[in-house]
Amino acid sequence: MWDGSARLRADSTSPTPTICIDPGHPSEVGRGASGKHTTEIHVVWVVANKLKTILEKRGYRVVMTKTAEEQFVRNRARAEVANHAHAALMVRLHCDSGSESGIAVFVPEKQGVSEGVRGPTTEVIASSIRMGKVFHAALVKSLAGSLADRGLRPDAASRVGARQGALTGSVFSHVPVVLVEICVLSSPHDERFIITDSGKNAVARALANAVDAAVLKHD
Ligand SMILES: [Zn+2]
Repeated sequence: MWDGSARLRADSTSPTPTICIDPGHPSEVGRGASGKHTTEIHVVWVVANKLKTILEKRGYRVVMTKTAEEQFVRNRARAEVANHAHAALMVRLHCDSGSESGIAVFVPEKQGVSEGVRGPTTEVIASSIRMGKVFHAALVKSLAGSLADRGLRPDAASRVGARQGALTGSVFSHVPVVLVEICVLSSPHDERFIITDSGKNAVARALANAVDAAVLKHD
């Protein structure tokens, strides 16, 4: 594992990149997925805080969209936190349910409409796709053997994205955005992995490596 903080400090002419971490739910779309033993809200809250700690050690500034696990924040407001912070990247954390197993990354590939607003811009779409490719590759490389790779997918392949054209958090984002479905909680294999502290640590480390790859090495 290479030391991202050394890279950040060595390049003193660049400002410290800000990363916005968005632990999903509760929001206007509800409380999200549940497994037999844990919930999406809990998993992504714990992983988000572990990721924040790692990124700050590596020299990033981090903003979070929530300050407490049970805090209700609408998805539009979550995007506005990233916009206000001028984040280099917004990382949205979720867990899925369904018949699949593994980790997936979603990026906006076209504009959508939410609350009468069309977005994101073509520039945000292009940068999200470019950074999303690098982010996804680094993420699944770090988690090989632990979580299966469900691929890099367009927002429109998600339930809300299919209806709107893009996810609400993408429509309102003025910064590059990726949404990670960390695992599938209805998969017994995935739940057994993510319920452990070591599983959450492994995902947080992999996410930090993916941020490094996307923010520092994407050009
Ligand atoms: Zn979710």
